[in-house]
Amino acid sequence: MTTLFEPRPPTLAATTRGDDFPVRRVFCVGRNYAEHAREMGRDPEREPPFFFTKWAETVVPSGAVIAYPSETANYQHEGELVVAIGKGGRYISSKDALNHVYGYAAGLDMTRRDLQLAARQLQRPWDIGKNVEQSSPLGLIHPASECGHLHSGAIRLTVNGTVKQSADLRDLIWPVADVIAFLSKYYRVEPGDLIYTGTPAGVGPVVEGDSIVVSIEGLTRLTVAIGAARAD
Ligand code: MN
Repeated sequence: MTTLFEPRPPTLAATTRGDDFPVRRVFCVGRNYAEHAREMGRDPEREPPFFFTKWAETVVPSGAVIAYPSETANYQHEGELVVAIGKGGRYISSKDALNHVYGYAAGLDMTRRDLQLAARQLQRPWDIGKNVEQSSPLGLIHPASECGHLHSGAIRLTVNGTVKQSADLRDLIWPVADVIAFLSKYYRVEPGDLIYTGTPAGVGPVVEGDSIVVSIEGLTRLTVAIGAARAD
């Protein structure tokens, strides 16, 4: 028996310590800031959080030039706090949840908004709007043992130096511990999982040549540039 083709190596994210963090799965929380829920035409009442997923291979490091993706005319930025899971578990309590966190990073949940909204309108899955090649840029992961757990602090996104998103982590409808507790009811959370915790208001489109910076108080900032569409 032979292996028919070379399997893709795992996606490795970088930590501030110089260690590699092997990415297992990417979970994203939808509508976790009230102002963003409103701008997306939804009532931000405190319903249980909901999740969608992306391939691990959509994660790219800070400094990357990401190609403008195909079949969209409205590729949008969503700056987010990302939680890196270090310890697995199922039915984790909110009280115990932070013990499962390896660390935190600044992230981007890039979105083909036109395709996401069309799917939403038709009550279809969001995959082609959300699970897009190179759509999950991730900054350096800071171990919680060094940066502590992030309950508050400024989260800010700029495009070409202009502030587009500005909020505070304390505005998260579902804080990190609750998000982990909810997610672990549906899946066994595993080391290597990343959870993109949702974006504040101010999402908007980017074009080729734009430079996006996501800054979260206490974390290394994430910088990404938008490149040309890929032909290959
Ligand atoms: Mn998002």
